[in-house]
Amino acid sequence: MSLDSRGAVAQAARRRTFAVISHPDAGKSTLTEALALHAHAITRAGAVHGKTGRRRVASDWMEMEKVRGISVTAAALQFAHRGCVLNLLDAPGHADFSEDTYRVLAAVDCAVMLIDAAKGLEEQTRKLFDVCRHCGIPVITFVNKWDRPGREALQLDAIEREFRLSPTPVTWPVGDAGDLRGLIDVRTPEQMLRYTPALGGAQEAVEEAISADRAAAEEGPMWDQAVEELELLRAADAMHDQEAFLAGRTTPVFFGAAISNIGVRLLLDAVVDHAPSPGPRELVGGGTRPVDAPFAGLVFKVQANMAPSHRDRIAFIRVCSGAFERGMTVMRAATGTPFATKYAHSLFGQDRSTVDVAYPGDVVGLVNAHALRVGDTLYAGQAAVFPPMPSFAPEHFAVAGPVDVSRSKQFRRSIAQLDEEGVVQVLVSELRGEQAPVLAAVGRHQADTLHKRNHRRHPDSDRP
Ligand code: GDP
Repeated sequence: MSLDSRGAVAQAARRRTFAVISHPDAGKSTLTEALALHAHAITRAGAVHGKTGRRRVASDWMEMEKVRGISVTAAALQFAHRGCVLNLLDAPGHADFSEDTYRVLAAVDCAVMLIDAAKGLEEQTRKLFDVCRHCGIPVITFVNKWDRPGREALQLDAIEREFRLSPTPVTWPVGDAGDLRGLIDVRTPEQMLRYTPALGGAQEAVEEAISADRAAAEEGPMWDQAVEELELLRAADAMHDQEAFLAGRTTPVFFGAAISNIGVRLLLDAVVDHAPSPGPRELVGGGTRPVDAPFAGLVFKVQANMAPSHRDRIAFIRVCSGAFERGMTVMRAATGTPFATKYAHSLFGQDRSTVDVAYPGDVVGLVNAHALRVGDTLYAGQAAVFPPMPSFAPEHFAVAGPVDVSRSKQFRRSIAQLDEEGVVQVLVSELRGEQAPVLAAVGRHQADTLHKRNHRRHPDSDRP
């Protein structure tokens, strides 16, 4: 085993690559920020939350990147926690479905399913969960907004009923939703964790462990009820089991309030303790690519014109095996042609900085990677082809054509760009020819994105 591959094995063991899946408004941005805050990737989470705060959050990260040297991309956030390197990939959670989300889930090893306590399982959560199951990704559940009146914790059986996934709570709330008094870590049931949130959630909440006696005296019936519920769970054998979790049969459940950073540290610990590190990946034609093989990576996202100041195309690659070294020449499996990364910087945050080396589980953004397509495999050494990205039956269709026939060349170019970015599936029939391709989208959002790009609808398109 070469020094490099030994390095890749050790580095892969330290990596946790995951995504947060949720219905819009469940608190994904807030939780992401809270996780980064706890991992000390940032010292101050943006105090402004909600839709208008998002850009601010992103810019805070970018600011922090400069100050602390953390790595932020539009596709992934990287931070360290307890000796591990966590890669949090952004799985876009639009009101509607888009293929981007599927693709991101093909690039992670674990998902955190975020549920709004008051709303329970929602449509988008269901769809995303289906994708996790399809991709064989284990799921950790975080029940958010427990500081707001909501459902009772025991309605967790909805997860069992709807997802055929047994919830195994690792933390349990003391106090009903809307009156959160603290949490019990089921591994240390003789104490209660009480939180004093920082104003505006700008810093970690102060966590204090108080004894069962004191909790019983101070919280009275609420403590007694939580203890009783925990006993029921224990009797039902609803306890975390690593093997069952990795096999997708159970989901460890955490409660909290991302906005005040309650329960977030325990979730972060769970990602380190329970989420799997990158392992061997299946290859087309059978067999697997072990993490200590030479470099191989999967293009899971291609984005054009990401920042107004950088008019170009970025391909995001998840490293699957070996070490990616900047400047190395790799092979593109789809064409069998070499691809030189020396002209392609890695992009982190607004500013391009270079990544010298990345290990399995990490995300590298290659700028000006015009040749690359979503689903491509890049490799060094022995050839590898990862299976194609899962694709899903489109539900929205439109026939496109140039508004001005004299601009048909530009039209074809922009259609090709949409295809390469994977914004939509471009279907060209022999009958209609290239001037009238059918654009097919999996979700309405995808169709809307397309519409915004100003393509004329053909009169016989069936949906807007
Ligand atoms: P996203 O659409 O899933 O990214 O959700 P956001 O993070 O933007 O949060 C949606 C709304 O829920 C915002 O107004 C947040 O302030 C709010 N929110 C997020 N987490 C919590 C929480 O733990 N408790 C409460 N009460 N509100 C929260």
